[in-house]
Amino acid sequence: MNKYWGLLFVILVSLSCKDDKPVLKEPVVKQMASIVPIEKPVMKQFGFNLDEFTVQLDTVKNGDSFGELMLQNKVDYPKIAKITQEFKDTFDVRKIRVGKPYLILKSKDTTEAAQVFIYENDAINYTVVDLRDTVKAYKDKKEVTYVEREASGVIETSLSQAILDQGIDYTVTNSLSEVYAWTIDFFRLQKGDKFKVIYKEKYINDSIYAGAGAIEAAYFEHNGRPIYAFAYENDSLKSIVDYFDEEANNLRRTFLRAPVQFSRISSRYNLKRRIRYYGNKIRPHKGTDYAAPKGTPILATADGTVTESTRRGGNGKYVKIRHNGTYSTQYLHMSNQNVKRGQFVRQGDVIGWIGMTGNTSGPHVCYRFWRNGRQVDPLKEELPLAEPLDESLQPEYFNYVTPIKDQLDCMTYPESPIEEEILTEDLASAEK
Ligand SMILES: [Zn+2]
Repeated sequence: MNKYWGLLFVILVSLSCKDDKPVLKEPVVKQMASIVPIEKPVMKQFGFNLDEFTVQLDTVKNGDSFGELMLQNKVDYPKIAKITQEFKDTFDVRKIRVGKPYLILKSKDTTEAAQVFIYENDAINYTVVDLRDTVKAYKDKKEVTYVEREASGVIETSLSQAILDQGIDYTVTNSLSEVYAWTIDFFRLQKGDKFKVIYKEKYINDSIYAGAGAIEAAYFEHNGRPIYAFAYENDSLKSIVDYFDEEANNLRRTFLRAPVQFSRISSRYNLKRRIRYYGNKIRPHKGTDYAAPKGTPILATADGTVTESTRRGGNGKYVKIRHNGTYSTQYLHMSNQNVKRGQFVRQGDVIGWIGMTGNTSGPHVCYRFWRNGRQVDPLKEELPLAEPLDESLQPEYFNYVTPIKDQLDCMTYPESPIEEEILTEDLASAEK
């Protein structure tokens, strides 16, 4: 009897999901194909109806110049001079680069004189030189559309493999590990860990893939422990987006463990340190030294405002950040700073690079941690959790995440091993 209920339950669950969101059960690739037509007639491009012109598509070759190209296409010299002089800020003819694509739209009559020159600065941005009537130049952008994608997987060997197996953009692996950097040790994932992720893909003119955008929502099950993550704007003034769980807890911690990735601690905080160089006298070391090659980025360990970015004596080039009324951090011996006094920085921002300025015998950053104006050992501090979402924002947050959580819950895994097992077992016992 119980087993039949189990079967019924599984069917009900999947039915309710199907009813709500029929598209979700479609294979992802199929879904994409229906949303993004690969072959779309492209008559109108760059704001012009290309049918009205004879179109010459080419790339800038070695030795090409804008002036030459225009003269070859029957543009008179005064017009070329006007562009090069009056529109230098919009279109600097000296900066056209070899290999960049361009279009020349020519009149369809027998003269075939160039009417419009379009230079593609990059995949999205382009510059138009309109040579008709009064000459003018302006910059514009191709239309970028976003297509929502869903992906899920069960980890067999590694997260990146599970992502690749699904044909998902590899950058999603990085994004996922950043979202969960505080809650999951990605070096210790287990076989059988599962993930679901909702993110957007960028397309230019509806057809050209231009990369994966940020993750909008995710679900990660590590060692059987589920963790939801929803992107939500925490501070609209600073346009800060954080990831919160289904109870509006922030997934971040206030402080990073270390200001450098992939480094080793070369000297710990030690108030009784003796240095032979100074005749074995006690020279307390109130910082934690992280050795890393010169030029390695130094990261702000928490959000805050830069109070000092300067060079002084033995400290060399350093940055000090005030995080709140209690905590400040300081980073010494930089080769260079990347921030200015008064600047607001976010946790993980690059504030400078490992160097050897000041008193130091090798490249490292001396990381100093201040609590209530006194230097303490950050490795022994009970560091605070990041603030949950402000209570005033929570009602709106829950409204926003409820349907997304349903969407995540309804997503299935590629093999969905659990449901299959229950079904086959139940069917087998039903036959007996
Ligand atoms: Zn030090």
